[in-house]
Amino acid sequence: MAELLSLAEAQARVLERVTPLPAETVPIAEAAGRVVAEDARAAVDLPPFPSSAMDGFALRAGDTPGRLPVVARIAAGVPAPRPLDAGEAMAIATGGVVPDGADAVVPIEYVVEHDNEVEIPEAAAQADNIRPRGGDVRAGEVVMAAGARLGPAQIAALAASGLDRVVTARRPRVAVLSTGTELRRPGEPLGPGEVYEANGVLLATALASAGADLEVLPTAPDDELSHRAALERALEADVLVTSGGVSVGQHDLVRRILGELGVEEVFWGVAVKPGKPLAFGVRGATLVFGLPGNPVSSLVGCELFVRPALLALQGASTPGPVFAEGRLAAGVRRNAHRDEFLRARTRASDDGLVLEPVTGQESHMIVRAATADALVLAPRGEGELAAGETVRYLSLA
Ligand code: AMP
Ligand code: MG
Repeated sequence: MAELLSLAEAQARVLERVTPLPAETVPIAEAAGRVVAEDARAAVDLPPFPSSAMDGFALRAGDTPGRLPVVARIAAGVPAPRPLDAGEAMAIATGGVVPDGADAVVPIEYVVEHDNEVEIPEAAAQADNIRPRGGDVRAGEVVMAAGARLGPAQIAALAASGLDRVVTARRPRVAVLSTGTELRRPGEPLGPGEVYEANGVLLATALASAGADLEVLPTAPDDELSHRAALERALEADVLVTSGGVSVGQHDLVRRILGELGVEEVFWGVAVKPGKPLAFGVRGATLVFGLPGNPVSSLVGCELFVRPALLALQGASTPGPVFAEGRLAAGVRRNAHRDEFLRARTRASDDGLVLEPVTGQESHMIVRAATADALVLAPRGEGELAAGETVRYLSLA
């Protein structure tokens, strides 16, 4: 294997090869998980009118405390019937239009109602319980900036600002190809030497959450023709992610055949554990990731390289991976040559987040890995990381 690249260097080489995808306009209901490509600006002031924050009575603060006639009742969704005059009150619902002339709303809990009068025992202050027009955003201001990823709150913000469409990056078309003659579909009987195929669903699930428009190809057995046919087809995608067949065995065909199909290999071999034989290449604008076949290696390679690449393709301002900090619950040995990603469970404690490495850290142990919700980075070096030490981790949640 060639000289191993550091993790940071390898990640930089991937991002260097990313050409952002073109933009397209989509209805906001279809925009979940997408990345904004052009600043989205509010169509209206929000709130669009001075509105009441409470069910109560609109009035003039200067008239309180006091007993005032109730001259109208304002429900949400209808204009105020007329301006409010000095010495008057109008009942108002939460979200109702505060009438001109009123400068405060007193909540219903703080008044005593009589027939057509209301008694306000305490003095109100100007602006109490009134949401000013444009207090959240003004028409024309940026609601969501280019590079932002759209989750529930972001999509709601667009809706509330009157936007039914948003300009986003096109979703990357991602082809996923698992390789290995030994792989069987779960549900089928296993023959001698066979194992169930897990990486296809692993990668599809992970990459769907990064905005991928997925095509999962049928598993390719370890023969030249199958590999060539599958890879040729898969290279039509924006991103091709393979698993298996990138090590040094004589049945590891992926890199050679990718090369024959015109893929320029950018690197092979990263100083990371698991995932060392990861390969990355490009053909035109297509990014090609060859992940090692052990399921945990595929998982780690996906989180470190493929997910950030997909987000960068979509123009995300923070493609990640985003590390957080916690403290180790137990000491761990470091690997002298490679940054290691340990599977761990997070636990809240009185003094912060604690990371408990799971038992079973080998790269084929996907079931043990599945009990974890974090990948703890143990930087390469000599000796141990002690229990209690602060470390960085990636969330798998
Ligand atoms: P490879 O990277 O092809 O040498 O595979 C390494 C190990 O991962 C072998 O034990 C394979 O059987 C296993 N493996 C490869 N691909 C998959 C897959 N898609 N699902 C489950 N195990 C796999
Ligand atoms: Mg294999």
